[in-house]
Amino acid sequence: MSGRFNAMSAIVTGGGSGIGAAIARELAAGGASVLVADHNLASAEAIAKSIEAAGGRAQAHRVDVSEAAGVEAMVAAAVEAFGGLHLAVNNAGIGGPSASTADYPLDGWHQVINVNLNGVFYGMKYEIAAMLKSGGGAIVNMSSILGTLAFAQAPAYVSAKHAVNGLTKTAAVEYAKQGIRINAVGPAFIDTPLLGSIDPIALQHITGLHPLGRLGASGEVSALTCFLLSDAASFITGSYHLIDGGYAAP
Ligand code: NAD
Repeated sequence: MSGRFNAMSAIVTGGGSGIGAAIARELAAGGASVLVADHNLASAEAIAKSIEAAGGRAQAHRVDVSEAAGVEAMVAAAVEAFGGLHLAVNNAGIGGPSASTADYPLDGWHQVINVNLNGVFYGMKYEIAAMLKSGGGAIVNMSSILGTLAFAQAPAYVSAKHAVNGLTKTAAVEYAKQGIRINAVGPAFIDTPLLGSIDPIALQHITGLHPLGRLGASGEVSALTCFLLSDAASFITGSYHLIDGGYAAP
C-alpha cells in the first residue's frame, strides 16, 4: 500500500468498531502502519486482519483508554512495532447511561468522563511525547455535535465532548510550533453499534433531526478525519469540524 500516509505510523483507539475501524482502514490504505487499539481485543484483531488481507500493515492492541498506564504502554507498543509515531486518533468512546442530571448515576458519570475525556487526555499526553521524538505529527480527537450542543439525558457525554474540544484547542496552541497539528471532529448521529441501545422510534426521531434526512456513515467521518491528518490540512490546527448532515444548522 502506498499513498498520502506512506512511511507513517498511526494509532487509532476504538479501532475495533464503527468510526475507528473505518479510520484504521483508510489510514492503512493510504500507506500508514496502524495500531488498532481497542478494549475489545477480538474486534481489534479482526480489523487488523482485514487490513492485512487488503495488503496493509496493522497490529491489534488491547487497551482501556481510561487507564493512563495502559495508554502509555499502547503508545510504546506502536513506537516499538513501527519505529515512531506520526498520527493518532483518540476515538474510543461510550454513550453512558440515559438519565436527567439530577437522576444521573454517579458511577455512570465517572465511567463516561474516564473513557471519553480522561482517555483523550491520556492519549495526547503520551502520543505528543512520542511525536516530538518522531519530528512532528497530527492528532484528531473524536468529539461530537454534542461537543457544542446540549442533548437531554446525556449530561456526562455532553460534558465530556465539550471538554474534549477545549483540550484539543489548548494542546494545539501548545504544540503548533513543534510541528504537531491537533483538531477535533464533531459527528452528528452515525450508523454504528454505539446507537444500538437507542429504541427504534427514538432513532427515527433522531434521524429526522438531520436536514439530509439520514444518519451518517462511518466512512464519511473517516474521510474528514483522514483529511485532517493529511498534509492537505497543513494550515488547520486547533479547530473543531462538524460532520453532521446539517444537524447544527437550524
Ligand atoms: P462503537 O461503539 O462502534 O465503537 C467504539 C469502540 O470503542 C468499540 O470498539 C469499543 O470496544 C471501544 N471502546 C469503548 N470503551 C473503550 C475503552 N475504555 N478503551 C478502549 N476502547 C474502548 O462507536 P462509534 O460510533 O464508532 O464511536 C466512536 C467515537 O465516535 C466515540 O468517541 C463516539 O463518542 C463518537 N461519536 C459517535 C457518534 C455516533 O452517532 N455513532 C456520534 C458522534 C460521536
